[in-house]
Amino acid sequence: MTRYSPEQLAERLRDGDRRALAQAITLIESTRPEHRVKAAQLLESLMPSTGNSVRLGISGVPGVGKSTFIEAFGNHITQQGHRVAVLAVDPTSALSGGSILGDKTRMETLSRNPNAFIRPSPAGKTLGGVTRRTRETLLLCEAGGFDVVLVETVGVGQSETAVAEMTDMFLLLLLPGGGDELQGIKRGIMELADLILVNKADGDSKVIAERTVTDYTMALHFLHSRSKNWQPRVQALSALNNQGVADVWETVNDFQAKLGDEIQHRRSAQAVNWLWAETADRLLDDLKGDASVRKRVAGLERDVTEGKLPPTVAAEQLINHYKSR
Ligand code: GDP
Repeated sequence: MTRYSPEQLAERLRDGDRRALAQAITLIESTRPEHRVKAAQLLESLMPSTGNSVRLGISGVPGVGKSTFIEAFGNHITQQGHRVAVLAVDPTSALSGGSILGDKTRMETLSRNPNAFIRPSPAGKTLGGVTRRTRETLLLCEAGGFDVVLVETVGVGQSETAVAEMTDMFLLLLLPGGGDELQGIKRGIMELADLILVNKADGDSKVIAERTVTDYTMALHFLHSRSKNWQPRVQALSALNNQGVADVWETVNDFQAKLGDEIQHRRSAQAVNWLWAETADRLLDDLKGDASVRKRVAGLERDVTEGKLPPTVAAEQLINHYKSR
């Protein structure tokens, strides 16, 4: 893997060395125990250099124009002097092992932009595993001097929640026309959105897009807002024609100004949630990996399957066995 010690890698990464960043990400994505130890050391030494970015989550159904938007948006903000990292949480990568999101071929000009860094979704057995690696990669990118981090996802609810939990602001891309039922958007995901973007507001769709903006603006008034300092907004844009893209960046800046200290509070709460999610994951891994527990599991699973034992009772027995082993 890497011939550098965690300290050397941290130093090169902080100096803005992209290869060091890529190596560091490979290290934190590795499941080998010795790499996990090095990754932990690396992250710990980099912590003081993290936190200096605008963290943006972004979601929308396949085909809505996420990569077209990220490319236009990324190129716009790098022209303003920012450095942007694009990460992804692909819930299907857990199943298929492959990943479409964050694919460089989807964002061709941005991937050649020296001030942009694109990383596809890590593969993983569980969404939790994919999420953890992306969170850590986000911290590495911040330490590497990227001051805007976009985390892209597409999914069935859980991955949106996971991404909203690691970012400051959540953007949801929609298509012109159609209610949320038609667009397959769940109310819970609408409630996560700080900014709804109606994309493809061009050509014949322009008028419909404007009406969609009005409809969603009305709808949002009936939804629970995540912050008392921010009423979610709806904007139309054409990512393809680069119209309305600069306005998105303005809204992001406005959001930051309006939220002020609340962003730090959000991050603190997210960090504590992360601590507990991580603890739960590790305890479960440890429990499942324990040889004597494994012997017991098959019988308990069978009893539960056959309806002989309520799952609550089986869980209790499993935990008692784990604690007393
Ligand atoms: P993703 O799957 O959400 O990443 O969507 P893509 O960015 O790959 O876009 C899907 C298709 O929609 C592509 O053919 C794009 O060229 C097209 N598209 C994206 N944005 C716009 C837009 O603003 N207007 C129009 N007319 N087409 C767009």
